[in-house]
Amino acid sequence: MSLLTKPVSAEHISVHNNRPLIQCNCCLRIEQAQQAVTKSAWLQAANHIGWRHVQSEAFDIDVVCPSCVSDFNNPIRKPIKPIERASI
Ligand SMILES: [Zn+2]
Repeated sequence: MSLLTKPVSAEHISVHNNRPLIQCNCCLRIEQAQQAVTKSAWLQAANHIGWRHVQSEAFDIDVVCPSCVSDFNNPIRKPIKPIERASI
């Protein structure tokens, strides 16, 4: 399965109380600006930290947060176990 990632587009940014926000369509996590910034500045920041529009043959998801994007890229990633230490 090939995965295509593109920058998130401005239509997927909404604005509440002058503070733009973006919501992941996978885990539904919302990230909102802490202060009033322009929609385009927020969009640029979101794309900068890894928010993406993800497409494949099977699906097309408009807004995906950085952690979900990495899950898509590593579908068989195993959980990381803390190092077990024998107490002596
Ligand atoms: Zn997510």
